Amino acid sequence: LYLKALEIQGFKSFPDKTVLTFGEDITAIVGPNGSGKSNISDAIRWVMGEQSTRALRGGKMEDVIFGGTAKRKQTGYAEVSLVLDNTSHIFDMEESEVMVTRRYYRSGESEYYINRRSVRLKDVNELFMDTGLGREGYSIIGQGKIDEILSVKSADRREVFEEAAGISRYRHRKEEAERRLERTDENLVRINDKISELE
Ligand code: ATP
Repeated sequence: LYLKALEIQGFKSFPDKTVLTFGEDITAIVGPNGSGKSNISDAIRWVMGEQSTRALRGGKMEDVIFGGTAKRKQTGYAEVSLVLDNTSHIFDMEESEVMVTRRYYRSGESEYYINRRSVRLKDVNELFMDTGLGREGYSIIGQGKIDEILSVKSADRREVFEEAAGISRYRHRKEEAERRLERTDENLVRINDKISELE
């Protein structure tokens, strides 16, 4: 899977629109301590749907929005777009490029887009599921992540293998179908109660 570009605007230490383009080989990002290197991997994690503020090294979601400096006013929203190559149709879409965008306003409003079409977070999660790139994937290894993988519960470790084997999409859909069945059963009980009341 080829990550072509990342566009960051108003996210953490990037108030201005910043476009990073990646070659097909290895890319290394270097810079002094605190210059924003980890904020770039946070941006990738975030645009892929990360909801945990701890994973994003913040306290609340608003912390991802550029908070201002002595010289610059804070921004009203954060926006990140990730451009992925899809010429081999790894993603179930016709387009040869897939662009995923996430925008978050100080008001707490979130927006997600796939190729500029407005979508739900669920669609973003499904897009990445089983590609090895998902939020629960293992494509971004942060500091301390290896220790975490070695020490987590066996059920969590199994999830890592399920994602790699490409079955988590189906497990997810099965769980959703089971929840719907449960709700339907509950509705049936209620309807039967109503019917017996009327009889
Ligand atoms: P190190 O090499 O020490 O790990 P780094 O290059 O990875 O550093 P980051 O952790 O990515 O650096 O960036 C930290 C910087 O980002 C800090 O200066 C912090 O003030 C700034 N920063 C984080 N969130 C925001 C925000 N919401 N608004 C403005 N600046 C922010």
